[in-house]
Amino acid sequence: MFAMGIDIGSASSKCVILNGAFEIVSQALVSAGTGTSGPRRVVETALDLAGLSQPQVSHVIATGYGRNAYEAADERISELSCHAKGAVWILPNVRTVIDIGGQDVKALSIGAEGTLQNFVMNDKCAAGTGRFLDVMARILEMDVCDLAEQDEKADGVVPVSSTCVVFAESEVISHLAKNVPISNLIAGIHQSVASRAANLMKRVGVLEPVLMTGGVANNAGVVRALERALNIQIKTSPYSQVAGALGAALIGLGR
Ligand code: ADP
Repeated sequence: MFAMGIDIGSASSKCVILNGAFEIVSQALVSAGTGTSGPRRVVETALDLAGLSQPQVSHVIATGYGRNAYEAADERISELSCHAKGAVWILPNVRTVIDIGGQDVKALSIGAEGTLQNFVMNDKCAAGTGRFLDVMARILEMDVCDLAEQDEKADGVVPVSSTCVVFAESEVISHLAKNVPISNLIAGIHQSVASRAANLMKRVGVLEPVLMTGGVANNAGVVRALERALNIQIKTSPYSQVAGALGAALIGLGR
């Protein structure tokens, strides 16, 4: 028996296939989200990697922002339930999850028995999201994947006080015009994202262990800034970005 979870986000599509023993047989990620060829391509890639054809997959569960537009799903489940399930698979004793994706940020509190207890989400604004980082990387003429490496070289922080992405863009451009050290400016950009995430987490209550999920978990600069903001350790996993798809596949297996 195989189950497939597909998480169709604003920035990317993720797919995980599990076998009946709850083991990952394949995972795939395509950096194209809802409304693109991303969902179709990510499913094809995951099936190829697993050496399976679609009819061999008994349950297909879609989640994420674009789940309702994905017609091939047997069921559609909210990201919150899927992220909670995926997070508990990744880190069984997890108590708080911070998920930073392309356009939303969610803080989840997980009970001692591993079920979702409470959550808080950001308002409909790009502040504190992956999109904010993507816009900043573009201004800096960098790939978003290289921000963390630059952040590591920082010997100070140039604060970016505007939370609105449009105002922050002007603020960063004015810092660039003053020739501030790029690494310190990137540290400030990361601090801005981390402080919004920390505020959401405080609203659900921060209990350790804490797991970060979503694509921004790949950015070690944001992870470090969040650790500093809350004075705790934040765990990440190679499965952080596919946590929602993983949770969807687990739900497909009846977990
Ligand atoms: P969504 O589910 O909304 O599509 P994701 O959880 O896939 O979003 O997160 C997408 C965001 O993650 C991007 O906007 C980007 O900022 C960030 N991201 C993705 N991969 C990396 C990486 N390798 N390094 C740094 N940041 C990354």
